[in-house]
Amino acid sequence: LFASTWDFRHAANTLEALPPPDGVEIALAGRSNVGKSSLINALTNRNALARTSHTPGRTQELIFFSSNAPLTLVDMPGYGYAKVSDAKVKAWTRLIHDYLRGRVNLARVFVLIDARHGLKTTDDAVLKTLDLSAVVYQIVLTKADEVKKPELERRIAETREKISRRPAAFPELIVTSSRNGTGMDELRATIAQILAE
Ligand code: GDP
Repeated sequence: LFASTWDFRHAANTLEALPPPDGVEIALAGRSNVGKSSLINALTNRNALARTSHTPGRTQELIFFSSNAPLTLVDMPGYGYAKVSDAKVKAWTRLIHDYLRGRVNLARVFVLIDARHGLKTTDDAVLKTLDLSAVVYQIVLTKADEVKKPELERRIAETREKISRRPAAFPELIVTSSRNGTGMDELRATIAQILAE
């Protein structure tokens, strides 16, 4: 799956601009700076496929990556950046809402959460949109290398507890670090399993 060469395929900032559904789609969402670009790069073994951005909140587009595998990865625009205007937040919510509602081949959304911080209020709004769209989503903790084991265990337990009450949440979470490779095999295996379903 990830041995093949990944490439940028399409960018869309409106529903009309979405590429036609092709194979299985898996999307990644998360607050700006959560480590989403780094994770996509680690997953696809490409150093700069997803740009690790120095201006968070800038990209308001869905970015589609594909390879010769029957899988498209979708980089959703980061949210929760303080300096973004209400109008932009609205446009973001609209875009992801439309995308999540109508995308027939979307199999799962990975919601990235910083292992140091856990779920925040801004994440709740996104989880709510996901619950309403009835798209299965799974929490991926990022930057696990930054957190000591006992704290990590606490964060995992607390996050599990929080998502247990949410209708569309997948119960298991995946703990990752793009820096030291933690959880990458598990994430790949999870994706392979989704494709096999
Ligand atoms: P994005 O805004 O969600 O795409 O986040 P980026 O991938 O651009 O990462 C934001 C910052 O977090 C950058 O400074 C990265 O180097 C750092 N970062 C990303 N992943 C990790 C990780 O697994 N461990 C650590 N320690 N830092 C990370």
